[in-house]
Amino acid sequence: MTQRGFVLDLDRCTGCGACIIACSTENSPTTGIAWRSITTFNRQRLPNAPVFHYSLACNHCLDPACLTGCPADAYTKDPATGAVLIDQDRCLGCRYCAWVCPYDAPQFDGAAGVMEKCTLCEHRLADGLEPSCVVACPVDALGFETLLALTVITRDGFPETGLRPALRVVGERRMEPPEMTVAPPAAAAPPRRRHRNSRGLRAEWSLWAFTSIITFLTAWFTAATATGGTVFLPAFAAAAAVAMGVSALHLGRPLRAWRGILNWKHSWISREALLVTLFLAAVCVFNAVSAPPPAALWVAAAVGFAALFAMDMVYRVPGQSVQTVPHSAMATLTGAFYLGLLLAAPAVALPAAAVKLALYVLRGERLAKRWSPLAVVRVGVGLVLSCALLFVDGPSPWVLVALAVVGELIDRGEFYVGLEFLTPEIQVARDL
Ligand code: SF4
Repeated sequence: MTQRGFVLDLDRCTGCGACIIACSTENSPTTGIAWRSITTFNRQRLPNAPVFHYSLACNHCLDPACLTGCPADAYTKDPATGAVLIDQDRCLGCRYCAWVCPYDAPQFDGAAGVMEKCTLCEHRLADGLEPSCVVACPVDALGFETLLALTVITRDGFPETGLRPALRVVGERRMEPPEMTVAPPAAAAPPRRRHRNSRGLRAEWSLWAFTSIITFLTAWFTAATATGGTVFLPAFAAAAAVAMGVSALHLGRPLRAWRGILNWKHSWISREALLVTLFLAAVCVFNAVSAPPPAALWVAAAVGFAALFAMDMVYRVPGQSVQTVPHSAMATLTGAFYLGLLLAAPAVALPAAAVKLALYVLRGERLAKRWSPLAVVRVGVGLVLSCALLFVDGPSPWVLVALAVVGELIDRGEFYVGLEFLTPEIQVARDL
């Protein structure tokens, strides 16, 4: 494969933005979405650190996380140029590529409901021209070349990511503070503003609802199988339908949701979608037949827990400021906790609750968070009270699970609020 890519000279780039204008004019004049952006290192102009600019678009990585993570198989790598391209007719608008790309390259087009990104100006390359950003740069800071032996040089604001970006960064702007005779001013707090591709509970409420419902259904079915009983099919099927329905609301193109299983060989989202579908279908079928073999029921329960594991792995995205695997609201852990409560089995519920408590406290400490009233409810009601009632005669397991669900909804909601996907802006703030 021929790998072509950009060269960025930090000593020359002035951050003027001509590359962004040229790119938008050439490629996205109707959507107005910028495929290239400039991130300034030391935007605060601290005197003991250099100032330089990263003009970045897609780096057309040799090991692109967008391509492997995309559940719809919408990404390809062009062998003629090495360009990583997205087929918008295949994209279902799940935005996972924006989560996993640490360079913030894929951008969501809300009107079309799909992602778009730098194409390396493939139409210009076909005509023997260089990309428009390179041509427009007034100071020759952006170049374009065939990268024969790609060596990744890590720098402040541009660390090793393991993706092998096809970008050569040159120039001497490094973090070598000059001799100072006075103490430098304290660095301003890193900017925490929400980036356009960032997430939060408001944006991800449908995933919060979907993952919470599927976790509960898995535990319910497994508990029923363990006790030789069965789930109440109308309620189970209704909850499953709601879960699948709200999960599609998260997509820019809900009618293409079926494409979400196509990249099961590489993408945890595809595996999650496939396993959840298999689990729900199996439970509905087994409940419709009079005496399904017990082994088949246990296989379905195992598929359910495998789906929860895949669900957790979806969030294993590098660069998070909080730990995502493991964390206190992980679906697998929550499924085990619910199962222990439904079976009235302290040997299962208590260890799961203890691990949840430890991880919850750890996350709060990492984020330097004070105990809020919600956190008190999460621990007091969701973990302590539900577990304590295991040792009291009287309350039905459903009461215990209802209390646990309150805590888990809070915890999972806080998890989505805390998600912070890496972008160049966040990276330079960390490195300054
Ligand atoms: Fe994919 Fe991001 Fe690499 Fe571009 S920079 S190839 S979008 S991972």
